[in-house]
Amino acid sequence: MTELYSDHIEWTDTGLQIDRIQDLESRDMRPEVKDCKIVPSSSDNGAYLVAKVECLDKPFEEADITADKTELIVCSCPSFYFQKSAGLEADTAPSSVSTCKHATVYREQKARSDDAQDTL
Ligand SMILES: [Zn+2]
Repeated sequence: MTELYSDHIEWTDTGLQIDRIQDLESRDMRPEVKDCKIVPSSSDNGAYLVAKVECLDKPFEEADITADKTELIVCSCPSFYFQKSAGLEADTAPSSVSTCKHATVYREQKARSDDAQDTL
């Protein structure tokens, strides 16, 4: 049985939230979760929460709402939290954050489910 790691995830009134998304919120980059999936860890029985997030690449005040829109894949794993996205807390732009291996798995899963939908 796969168990979701609860590190870097928070339960809120509206459901599950990944900590890094809250960083985007506190920088006023208006994150919006478009989709999310549970991705199993490749090394043990755990799993991580991976979300596709649309947000502004700059704080709302400085942003051009259409030109500065970007998309990133946020993951709850330690690699993403401590290495890839550490700068999001401070002044790194979402578009320059690199993704972890779970983002790749996420994209594959998504492509598969989109295919499945096409054949319906
Ligand atoms: Zn990850």
